[in-house]
Amino acid sequence: MANSKFEYVRNFEQPDNLLPNTWIVVRIDGRGFTKFANKYVFEKPNDRRALDLMNAAARAVMSELPEITIAYGISDEYSFVFHKSCILFERRSSKLITTIVSTFTAYYIHLWSTYFPDTPLSPPLPSFDGRAVCYPSVQNLRDYMSWRQVDCHINNLYNTTFWALIQQGGMGNLEAEELLKGTYAADKNEILFSKFSINYNNEPEIYKKGSVVFRDYELVEPGTHNAAAEADNLAEPVQQSKNQTENDKKRRAKARIVIEHLDIIKDEFWDRRPWLLS
Ligand code: ATP
Ligand code: ATP
Ligand code: MG
Ligand code: MG
Ligand code: MG
Ligand code: MG
Repeated sequence: MANSKFEYVRNFEQPDNLLPNTWIVVRIDGRGFTKFANKYVFEKPNDRRALDLMNAAARAVMSELPEITIAYGISDEYSFVFHKSCILFERRSSKLITTIVSTFTAYYIHLWSTYFPDTPLSPPLPSFDGRAVCYPSVQNLRDYMSWRQVDCHINNLYNTTFWALIQQGGMGNLEAEELLKGTYAADKNEILFSKFSINYNNEPEIYKKGSVVFRDYELVEPGTHNAAAEADNLAEPVQQSKNQTENDKKRRAKARIVIEHLDIIKDEFWDRRPWLLS
């Protein structure tokens, strides 16, 4: 390839490869979705159509990027996890973030009419920001996922109570906000139950737990233990061979992508799906 006198400008580009051998989480978040939700009259506290659309877009991202191990979504945000051995785009942060953000946004808009058939999109169109964070240990990664799911729970309990006070209790926004100030989870559960006969435990799982998207292989029954596989794992070099990486990629591309609303804080979810973190 010919070198032009202009080509030196390439040297101004800064490397942004993420730390090797760490779990990469790319979290995206809808820009100005408080306003966006008002514009399209999202049901409060939870618009099921909007969540289903987020999940459909996340599923599409997962199937276009087999390197993603698992994703977790709540409200207008989604976290996508790349395996620590992932070498996609040489782990360049800007490439990973922008590819996820643009793929997700493209599908969100493409699929909009499926979930909101009666309300066509008009500018300003939905857009998402994104960031990438590296987590060095499985514990850090699981704590990250737990953090997001706890956030989902806290927000949903608050919002469910807040909107019950308004929609069923006839309160104004300020009045409801005032009443909930300084309350604990138990107080909110009590308000829901005594005033509105709502048992929070019976609320839909998708609202209480958020959405986990992952590739489905064979479940491991609780209590079984595969020592041979474990020994194999220990012997395995951190950097996989090219062949193995290719095979894994093909296997992942073929696996069914499922969306569930499960507890990802406790060990059980991870113990039963050892391929997610191994
Ligand atoms: P920013 O651009 O800083 O992210 P934002 O307005 O998007 O601003 P967030 O903290 O991301 O702020 O909050 C998301 C907003 O979108 C909340 O107000 C939430 O109520 C609304 N929202 C998102 N999804 C839904 C949904 N499925 N149903 C109802 N409201 C939703
Ligand atoms: P990467 O994902 O690495 O960017 P790529 O296939 O997109 O891979 P580019 O170097 O970005 O590689 O090249 C863009 C490709 O798209 C070229 O092959 C180019 O011929 C084609 N292309 C883009 N725009 C047009 C166009 N307007 N007309 C014809 N071909 C186009
Ligand atoms: Mg934000
Ligand atoms: Mg937002
Ligand atoms: Mg948000
Ligand atoms: Mg290109």
